[in-house]
Amino acid sequence: MSNTKYVFVTGGVTSSLGKGIIAASLAKLLQQRGFSVTIQKLDPYINIDPGTLNPYEHGECYVTDDGAETDLDLGHYERFLNIPTSQANNVTTGKIYQAVINKERKGEFLGKTVQVIPHITDEIKRRIQILGTSGDYDIVITEIGGTVGDIESLPYVESVRQLLWEKGEENAIVIHLTLIPYLAAAGELKTKPTQHSVKMLMQSGVSPNVLVCRTEHEISEDIKRKLALFCNVKKEDVIQSIDAETIYDVPNLMLEEGLDEVVLKKFKLSTEKQPELKVWNEFLKKHKNPTSEVEIALIGKYIELQDSYKSITEAFIHAGSSNETKVKVRWVHSESLTPNNIETKLKGVNGILVAPGFGDRGIDGKIKAVQYSRENNIPFFGICLGMQMAVIEFSKNVLGLVDAFSTEMKQECKNPVINLMESQKEVTNKGGTMRLGAWDCKVAKDSKTYKAYQSENISERHRHRYEFNNEYLEQIELKGMKATGINSKTGLVEIIEIPSHPWFVGVQYHPEYKSTVLKPHPLFVDFIKASLKQSKN
Ligand code: GLN
Repeated sequence: MSNTKYVFVTGGVTSSLGKGIIAASLAKLLQQRGFSVTIQKLDPYINIDPGTLNPYEHGECYVTDDGAETDLDLGHYERFLNIPTSQANNVTTGKIYQAVINKERKGEFLGKTVQVIPHITDEIKRRIQILGTSGDYDIVITEIGGTVGDIESLPYVESVRQLLWEKGEENAIVIHLTLIPYLAAAGELKTKPTQHSVKMLMQSGVSPNVLVCRTEHEISEDIKRKLALFCNVKKEDVIQSIDAETIYDVPNLMLEEGLDEVVLKKFKLSTEKQPELKVWNEFLKKHKNPTSEVEIALIGKYIELQDSYKSITEAFIHAGSSNETKVKVRWVHSESLTPNNIETKLKGVNGILVAPGFGDRGIDGKIKAVQYSRENNIPFFGICLGMQMAVIEFSKNVLGLVDAFSTEMKQECKNPVINLMESQKEVTNKGGTMRLGAWDCKVAKDSKTYKAYQSENISERHRHRYEFNNEYLEQIELKGMKATGINSKTGLVEIIEIPSHPWFVGVQYHPEYKSTVLKPHPLFVDFIKASLKQSKN
């Protein structure tokens, strides 16, 4: 559609206000009113993508079907909207500059001085409009990462200014998300930081059309009036966003506050059809009224920053709701697990998930946790590195290959049950070179995985370099661990199971990326079901 509408979401006062959740909630409401909507994130850092960033710096790296390594906000977009995102949905300063510099080298700007304005801003505007001109969307919501006033954000804000002017106010608007802090000593909500951040935005020539105000306390009509007066917006365009019990409440809260209606009115689009939130609210109802509870140990090495496992914990919420079960997570640092304390650290859990990861820190703890769940019949779910650890543990303790390992951690190991794919051996660059994105997998009909998916043909997202070494497949299968999912084209093992165990599944891919509110991931649903069964034993 040529007349795509653009919503830009900027942030003021501080970071971590939840721009991604506000964008996703608005998108959800618009989608449920019948509009086709997508969301894009612009990240002002110089990395090409977050694939090379430590999770401690950035939280989880989310992966799309087309193999983009992206910001974790894209996970929220997919979980809320239930539609896939792609390379085009996450743009970084690194990508912008790379494109412009490549063009310069090709001679596309011959004779010209290459500058931030217009060359960098043109590239930003092109990336924003790629989604809009695809014809797939009525509305594109673009979230600008960072906070207004950051040096890094300036070219983005300038690009927004140009687009607002080019498209006109019926086609492009700005929502500014800001914080209204509460001063306990004075017993007051304060508007000054918001006034300043709006002023800062205006200095760049951008005047927000809507203010969304994050707050711990109800914002009075008086405060709304004051904000409207100082920030050049109408009072009805000041929207309160009060702290919520769960992020999944935010679409309903925004509906009550009328955010979607305000946006549609600005675009002169129909507000007649109300958002259809029946399925969403059924999910919420079950999430908030569980009839049972399970405790799952999440074994990882980045647990100090729980955002590192965002998609996994959200997938637990989806799977919990579909089982009407509260999923309590016991965060277990893999480095802290020793043969002496494993019994106490994992005592009483109903399921164990060994998380993805890179490098050898905490590896022994992960292997011990696999052994504990295998020997004690506790449901086990291994994801990516977690699956690889399950293969190593089985090879060591059941096959008796004491030196079995992955060449990622021990290059010269005698029994490399996990090793580098042939095509990876030539690779020297670190960025964007793993096995990434969607790969097909054929599931064995007599497996637990098949029972969960109810399908032989699945496609899941990957992000890893190392693989199950097929030279060991026969011996491993003879001893009772089965490869129940294979990529037919390459023969790569994607799923392993121990059929004699109540629930022992390891997957080379990342099922968590595809779990959404509308479609909780079948393996997570089945894992929680098995854990629930374990809790009743
Ligand atoms: N480090 C492992 C690999 O590269 C696993 C990666 C992961 O868990 N995502 O194969």
